[in-house]
Amino acid sequence: MRRDDISNSKDCMDVAVLNRKTLRSWTLVKVLENMRKIVNDIRRRERHYRGIYENALEGIARFSPRGEALSANPAFARMLGYEHSEELVRSITDFGRQCWLDLHEWDSLVRALRTQGAASGCEVELVRADGSHIWVFLSARAVRSETGDMLFLEANVSGVAREKHREAALWESELCFRGVARDMAVGVNTEGERRTSLLTRCDPKKREDSLESALQMAHVGYWDRELDTDRVTWSDETCRIMGTAQRLSNRSFADELAAIHPEDRPCVTRAVLIALDGGARFDVEFRVLRPDGDVRIVRKQGDLVTDKSGHPRRMFGTIQDITKHKRAEERLAESEQRVRAMPMALAHANRLATVGQFTAELAHEIKQPIAAAATHAAAAVRWLRTQPPNLDEAQRALSYIVDDTRRTCDVIVRIRRLVTKTPMSEGFLRVNDAIMEVMNLISGEVEKNAVSARAQLAESLPLIHGDRVQLQQVMLNLSINAIEAMSTCGGPRELSIETGTDAQGNVLVAVRDSGPGLGPDALKQIFEPFYTTKPAGMGIGLSICRSIVEAHGGRLWVSDNPAGGSIFQFSIPSETSCGSRDSS
Ligand code: ADP
Repeated sequence: MRRDDISNSKDCMDVAVLNRKTLRSWTLVKVLENMRKIVNDIRRRERHYRGIYENALEGIARFSPRGEALSANPAFARMLGYEHSEELVRSITDFGRQCWLDLHEWDSLVRALRTQGAASGCEVELVRADGSHIWVFLSARAVRSETGDMLFLEANVSGVAREKHREAALWESELCFRGVARDMAVGVNTEGERRTSLLTRCDPKKREDSLESALQMAHVGYWDRELDTDRVTWSDETCRIMGTAQRLSNRSFADELAAIHPEDRPCVTRAVLIALDGGARFDVEFRVLRPDGDVRIVRKQGDLVTDKSGHPRRMFGTIQDITKHKRAEERLAESEQRVRAMPMALAHANRLATVGQFTAELAHEIKQPIAAAATHAAAAVRWLRTQPPNLDEAQRALSYIVDDTRRTCDVIVRIRRLVTKTPMSEGFLRVNDAIMEVMNLISGEVEKNAVSARAQLAESLPLIHGDRVQLQQVMLNLSINAIEAMSTCGGPRELSIETGTDAQGNVLVAVRDSGPGLGPDALKQIFEPFYTTKPAGMGIGLSICRSIVEAHGGRLWVSDNPAGGSIFQFSIPSETSCGSRDSS
C-alpha cells in the first residue's frame, strides 16, 4: 500500500466517520423536520376541526355514562340556554335529569347506546337553563374503550324541531282560545257572546287578535302564566281590574299574590295547587287590594294546559270584577234575611199580644202561690216559736212553701218561654203534656169568662217532632179565639181540647167551642193574614198558626161543630206516621 494510499485510507476513514456522523445528524434533522411537519399538520387539522366544532350550527357534546357534561360546543350550549360551553360543563352533572323532559326517553336512549352503540334522529324535548323547553333532533353514539366499556357518549343536536315547536304552541293557543271563549260564554253580556261566536269561525290568527277586544267589550280580563318560567301576562283589561296601569313583561305569580288581600291568598294558592295537580278547574273569588287602596272583589277562572305528554305548560284564563254583583247579592241576602225573619217577628208579636190579653189572670195565678207561701212561712215561724217548738208542723209548713214556690216558678217559666224570642228548637214532644201546660195558662181566662174547659186526651199518643213553644202558641191562639168567640154570645160556653190519631198515624188536635161558628165568607178568608172581626184584632193569629203547623209538615183546618160553634183541627206527623212513610 502506498503512503498516500495509507494517508488516503486514513482520510477515507475520517471521511467515513464524518459521513456517519453527518448522516446521523442529517437523519435526525430530517426526522425532526418530519415530526414538526406532522405536529404542524396535526395543529392545522386541530385548528380546522376546532373551527368547525366551535362554529358548527349543530350542537355537539360529550357526556359521561352517568350524564356529566364533559365538553360541549357553543352551539350546544346556546341551544340549552347557556352563555358559553364552560358554563354548561360546570352546570350539567346529570344530563338526563336536568335536561330531559321525559326521563324515560333518556333512559331508553342510554339503553339503546349500550346495546346498539348508536341512536339517530330522535325528536326530543329538552329543558333549557331558564326552564323553557326546546324541541331538537338528537343523535348519539357510545365511544368505548378497547375492553368494550363505554367511555363516554357523544350527542349531536341538530336544528330545533320547529315543526314540533309550532305544533305545541298551536295546541296551547287553541286550548287557551277554547277556554277563554267558554268563560266568556258564561255570559257576561250578549255582545261579548256574539263576538265570541263570530271568533270561533274565523282563522286562529285573526281570532287571537280579536279576542282581546272582545274580552274588553265584555269587561273580562285575560291572564296567562307560563309555568316553566313563572312569567305572568295580563291583558289591558286585567291591568285595569287589578288597578295597575303597566302591562309588565316580567310579572310573576308572587307579584300577583301580592296584589291579593292577605286573607284570601291561601285560598287562591290552594286553588292553583289543586288545578296544577289535575284536580278541579281553577275558579276562585277573592279580594284585590288596588294600589289606590280600593278593594275589589274578582272572580278568576282558569285552565291548565298540558303538552301532549301530559306535562303542565301554562295556566291561562279570565278575570272579572264582580264587586257590584257581589254587593247587590249581599243586599239581596240581607233583605231576604229580613223577609225570612218577618214571620218569626210576627209570630213573636202575636204571642206577646196573646199573652198580654191575659196578663191580669197570669198575675193572679202567680200571686196565689206566693200568698200561700207567705201564709205557710208565717205558720212555720209560729210552730218554731211554741215551747217546745213543733218541728214536725214547721217542717210540713216549709215543704208547702217549697211546693208553692215551684208552682210560681213553673208559671214564670211557661210565660217566659212564650214571650222570649227564641229561635226554633226542635225535639220530640208529648202533645198531651204541651196541652196541659196551655190549659194551665188559660185557666184564668177560662174562669173569668165562665167557660167550662175540658181536655179529652187520647192515651199512648205517639211522640211528635217539633218546636214545643211554637205548637203551644197554636193551641193558645185557638183556645183564646174560642173563648173570645163564646164570650160574645149567650148559651153554654164549652171549650174542649181533644187529641187522637188519624188513619195515617198523625197526631190530631181538635179545639172545639160552642160559640157562634163561622159564616161561609169567614170560612173562606179566616186564614188570610189581617182578616179580623175584632175591633182590636190584628188578624194574624190564624195565618201564623197555619204556617207553624205547615212548617211541622202538618195541616190546619176549620169546620162547623155539629153541636154549634166551630172546630179548629190540626194534624202533625208523628214518629209512627213518619216511620211508616219512610218504610213505604
Ligand atoms: P184576631 O184574633 O186578631 O182577629 P185571628 O187570625 O186569630 O186574628 O182570627 C181571625 C178571625 O177569625 C177573628 O177575628 C174571628 O173573626 C175569626 N175566628 C177565629 N176563631 C174563631 C172561632 N173559634 N169562632 C168564631 N170566629 C173565629
